[in-house]
Amino acid sequence: MWALNWKLDDILMPFPGVEPIDVTKEMQRQHYTPRHMFELADRFFYSLNLTRVPASFWRRSVMRQPDARRVICHPSSWDFCDGADFRINHCTNVTQKDLVTIHHEMSHVQYFMQYKNQPYIFRAAANPGIHEAVGHAVALSVESPRHLWRLGLLNDYRTTYAVEINDLMRRALDQVVFLPYAYLVDLWRWKVLEGSLPEKDWNCGWWDLRYEIQGMKPPEVRSEEDFDAASKYHIPANIAYSRHFVSFVMQFQLHKALCMKAGQYVPGDPSRPLHKCDIYSSTQAGNALGEMMRLGSSRPWPEVIETVLGERKMNGSALREYFRPLELWLAEENQKHKEFVGWRPDGEYCVYEKPKKSESSLRCELNTE
Ligand SMILES: [Zn+2]
Repeated sequence: MWALNWKLDDILMPFPGVEPIDVTKEMQRQHYTPRHMFELADRFFYSLNLTRVPASFWRRSVMRQPDARRVICHPSSWDFCDGADFRINHCTNVTQKDLVTIHHEMSHVQYFMQYKNQPYIFRAAANPGIHEAVGHAVALSVESPRHLWRLGLLNDYRTTYAVEINDLMRRALDQVVFLPYAYLVDLWRWKVLEGSLPEKDWNCGWWDLRYEIQGMKPPEVRSEEDFDAASKYHIPANIAYSRHFVSFVMQFQLHKALCMKAGQYVPGDPSRPLHKCDIYSSTQAGNALGEMMRLGSSRPWPEVIETVLGERKMNGSALREYFRPLELWLAEENQKHKEFVGWRPDGEYCVYEKPKKSESSLRCELNTE
């Protein structure tokens, strides 16, 4: 509805008919259990020289759908703020997707444990995007064929070019496509709160941003009778959205920095590209991550990220490096097929409120009767 990701794998795969890597069947064949999946995630952080979850975590977390009662199953991680009690609530299925999700959630728990000695007010990520960025960055390693091979779920970590490009495309349709949307939600809100977008133009102002930034048009012409921005939960609920933009950009910065520390990524070396890196068992990467996490929000975020990244700003270049093989493939394809890259105005998509007739003109019309 919001076109915030384009899961159109069936029509947009560069190499149609090529099966993606999915170790779900293999996990089931090896009798994986939710508990086993959590243990693997715990071992991942331990391999980085980070901290194991406490015994209470295993007793108190929800790892599978309980038999006797209904629970909210959306995965979530909890810091009980006593420095000892951390939990995850997740009704796990034995699938590759859930294996990755568990590592993501365990990253949050790892963050809680690292900053537990900070005063309460600083027990948070340095900015609202960083908690998620760490989880996403860890997931990038876990999903790599090299890591799945390490777990004994794949016979070989080498993949064909077609599998690799398809996989990057699948990710790009999810993560790159998300960026313009994640940016414009709060841009629109900013204009509303600042007063530069008057209330009478709220809906068409929304569609102007959707069109200019995201290249999206509604399926039918909209007007100020509609209020489409409110269809996104975060608008009426008044929840900030730019954190998601920040986390999606910073995950690649973090991934790159950690992979370089792990010696798994060497810029310019085609044998070690960024999208194939797995930081598993690198104490250098883990130590750097731990140092950043331990600071919590006790310092301004540019200082905190500098400990790992060596730079103080958000930067999209790591994202581009990650998707580099796909970008090269696309540039070639687009040239071959003489594709137009971008979008051109073609017709109206939202009707701004018509100017109200003034009273004198109304009177005039009445007089003609
Ligand atoms: Zn998360």
